Amino acid sequence: MNYLSTRGHPDRKRFCEILLEGLAPDGGLYLPETYPQVDTATLAKWRALPYAELAFEILSLYIDDIPPADLKAICAKTYTAEVFGTDEIVPLRELEDGVYLEALSNGPTLAFKDMAMQLLGNLFEYELARRGSELNILGATSGDTGSAAEYAMRGKKGVRVFMTSPDGRMSPFQQAQMFSLQDANIHNIAITGVFDDCQDIVKAVSNDLGFKRKYRIGTVNSINWARLLAQVVYYFAGYFQATAGNDKPVSFTVPSGNFGNVCAGHVARMMGLPIQTLVVATNENDVLDEFFRTGVYRVRAAVDTHETSSPSMDISKASNFERFVFDLVGRDPARLRQLFVDDLGLQGSFDLSADPAFKQAAGRFGFRSGRSTHADRLATIRDTEKRFATLIDPHTADGLKAAREQITPGVPMVVLETALPIKFAATLVEALGEEPARPKKFEGIEALPKRVVKLPADAEAVKAYIAENCD
Ligand SMILES: *Cc1c(COP(=O)(O)O)cnc(C)c1O
Repeated sequence: MNYLSTRGHPDRKRFCEILLEGLAPDGGLYLPETYPQVDTATLAKWRALPYAELAFEILSLYIDDIPPADLKAICAKTYTAEVFGTDEIVPLRELEDGVYLEALSNGPTLAFKDMAMQLLGNLFEYELARRGSELNILGATSGDTGSAAEYAMRGKKGVRVFMTSPDGRMSPFQQAQMFSLQDANIHNIAITGVFDDCQDIVKAVSNDLGFKRKYRIGTVNSINWARLLAQVVYYFAGYFQATAGNDKPVSFTVPSGNFGNVCAGHVARMMGLPIQTLVVATNENDVLDEFFRTGVYRVRAAVDTHETSSPSMDISKASNFERFVFDLVGRDPARLRQLFVDDLGLQGSFDLSADPAFKQAAGRFGFRSGRSTHADRLATIRDTEKRFATLIDPHTADGLKAAREQITPGVPMVVLETALPIKFAATLVEALGEEPARPKKFEGIEALPKRVVKLPADAEAVKAYIAENCD
């Protein structure tokens, strides 16, 4: 399998080459040259597989530069009941007639990002050992991504994590999750500033090419193809659990921010998984909902990005969206560049409303969308607790609300549960008047010793810290 750049760079790469890379050299995103096709006989065969073996089968279609026995061992080591809480790994439960919740949040940090990040940690360790090389991951987090990365990379050989976060701005639970890690290869850096300062520091360090090369700086952001690929697996697993052996279609609703999760659903659908509809659920930051309603993609300025009670969906532009639009415009890199480089670069938006391709978003590609507000989230959390005695987190609530607006009778609707409610306790208290129960392993973590350094919002200070801690 070869990978290309959405922006038309002539090079073709194999999986392990792009594993440790971010963007393609021309600024595009990597995609496979073709989507492998899965027929009904294969689906029938895969239906009975345990999650780790299903992951191996799907990954094998995209990875041909890791020996199968090694890849199989990596999958087996990643997707265990010990790490994800159940044998099913992503158990499905019916909430109401035809509406299901697929649990993706029972990994180490209680958000769906563990599903991909845990695999990435093991792939990184494997590939770095094979090359005799090292990687220093530099990141910025306001919560979920940083903790998922740290729990995935802790104790891994050849990998260090330097994670910046805005000092004092994460929830006490999120801080405790990250700062209580005592592993020598995990470095928490609290920046006196806001999240944007952290992101600016990461950009400044990455733009210093000499430093980047000398200290082998890498990232684990959501545009990484391996992360997206890992997420394709749970669409298959959800499909199998929602159907009973026929080839009937299923729909999925996905609480969305950077469009990584739902893009994995798009890939599963392109492979031939019978998905009828993919519902993109957004909060007040509705860049994506606006596109699927109108054909206009209008990125927001930082000041127009709302701070909401589903904070992991607070984005002003969706970094994986380019992958879908590439397919939407018939994989034409010149057209893609016109939209993402010329139009977005010049005017901060592009308009496909009059382009015949736009009709295909809902038609051939099956996309719908929905939007929620803070009041909707509270109402959905309350209603779900009252009628089904089930607690859901604010992001999942955004999903459930959008899902109910797009139901087709007879087609199961699977809502992806992207976090556990305990991660967003303040909103649960606002909705229900009480704190959700906390999993045992997290009891009392706020009282554990913390491992964190405080640095000013200054890229030079962060560079000096990395240099000091790199041997
Ligand atoms: C990251 C995240 C999302 C958004 O996922 P994308 O892949 O960026 O669309 C939604 N919910 C939660 C809880 C998250 O952590």
